[in-house]
Amino acid sequence: MFELTATDRNTRARRGRLKTAHGVIETPAFMPVGTQGSVKAVSPRELRELKAQIILGNTYHLFVRPGLEVIRHFGGLHRFMNWDGPILTDSGGYQIFSLAKLRKITEEGVAFQNHLDGTPAFISPEIAMEIQAALGSDIAMVLDECPPWPCEYDYAARSLEMTTRWAKRCKEISETGFRKPESSDLSAIRNPRSQIVFGIVQGGTFEDLRRASAQAIAAIDFDGYAIGGVSVGEPEPEMMSAVEWSEPHLPENKPRYAMGLGTPPQLLELIARGMDMFDCVLPTRLARNGTAFTAEGTLNLKNAEFTLQTGPIEDGCECEACRNFARGYIRHLIKAEEILGLRLITIHNLHFYLNLMARARRALENGTFSDLRTQFVSGYKTREPLAD
Ligand SMILES: [Zn+2]
Repeated sequence: MFELTATDRNTRARRGRLKTAHGVIETPAFMPVGTQGSVKAVSPRELRELKAQIILGNTYHLFVRPGLEVIRHFGGLHRFMNWDGPILTDSGGYQIFSLAKLRKITEEGVAFQNHLDGTPAFISPEIAMEIQAALGSDIAMVLDECPPWPCEYDYAARSLEMTTRWAKRCKEISETGFRKPESSDLSAIRNPRSQIVFGIVQGGTFEDLRRASAQAIAAIDFDGYAIGGVSVGEPEPEMMSAVEWSEPHLPENKPRYAMGLGTPPQLLELIARGMDMFDCVLPTRLARNGTAFTAEGTLNLKNAEFTLQTGPIEDGCECEACRNFARGYIRHLIKAEEILGLRLITIHNLHFYLNLMARARRALENGTFSDLRTQFVSGYKTREPLAD
C-alpha cells in the first residue's frame, strides 16, 4: 500500500508512493482542501491540470450540508463532485471542536449543535467511520479530540487517552464493517475495506505526551498516521517540536500526514522531519484577499505598486494565471471584486504549493533535498500566520 522509494541522507525526508482505491499518490504530497465538496473557486478539470493528486473533504461540513442522504443519493462524494481521484476525509472532530456550538464530550462521543441552524447531532467514533464510509473517501481519519492551544498538561493527558480509546473503536468498526443499509440511514455505499484508515497522534505541546500518544496509536496498527493538534494557534517552534517528538515513534513503512499545515517553507521543514502529506487552506484562503505566493514570499496584489506592472505574478511560473495575465490586470480584478481575480490567484497559489511538492520529490530522487530546502527557506522572506 505504501512504499518508500528514496530517503534523504541528511534529514528524515522520504520519497514514497501510496496506493488508494482511486489512484496512486506520490509523496511528499499536498492535498488541496475541498471543504464543502469543492476546492473553492476551482473545478475538478482545473485540479487535474494543476496535477493535484488527492483532495481533502470535510466530513463535518458535508454531514451538516447537504447531508448524507443527498451524497448517498448521488453515489458518494466522488460522483457528487465529479472528482475521480483520491479523496481524504477528516473525521469531523476538528470542526466539531472549533465550529459547532454546545458541545458535550463524553466517552461515548460528542454531542453538538451545528453552526448553521443549531440542529443537534451526535458523533461517536463508530458514527464518524460510518459517515466517511458513506462518503466513500479513499482515506478516512479516526475521530479524535483536538484540544485547543494553550492546553493544561492534565487535560492534554486525559484527552489523548480518550483519543486512543476512540482510535481503537474506529479501527475495530472499520474492520468488522457497518450496519446493514436496511437497519440504518448511515449505510456504507461501498466496501469499507477498500478505504484505508489513518490514526491521529495528539498530546499537545508536551514531549512525554506526544511520545505516549505516538506509541499508543502506532500500536493499534493503522494504514497511516497523522500528527494532529498542530496548527491550532501555537507558535511555530512548538508546532515543529510536536512533530519532532511524535515522528520517531511512528513506523517507517507507513505514510505520515501533518494536519492543517502549513506555509511553503514550513512544508519543506516538515518534509525534513519525516512528514509525507499535508493539507492547508492558506493557498485558497489567502487568494481570496488578493495574496499570492512566490518563491520570495507572499505578495498582496491589492497594493498600489502593482497597478502598472505588466509581468506575471511570478516570472517563470507555468500556471494558467501567469501564462496569460499581468499583475496589473489581476490587481484590477481584485480591486473591482471580479470573481476571475480570486480564481486566477487561487490557481496560481495551488500551482505554487503543488509544484513545490513536485520539486521536493525530484530533489529527494536526485539526492539534492537539503539544497532545495536551504535555498528555498532562505529565499522566502515573508511570514504568514499559521492557518487554523
Ligand atoms: Zn502562476
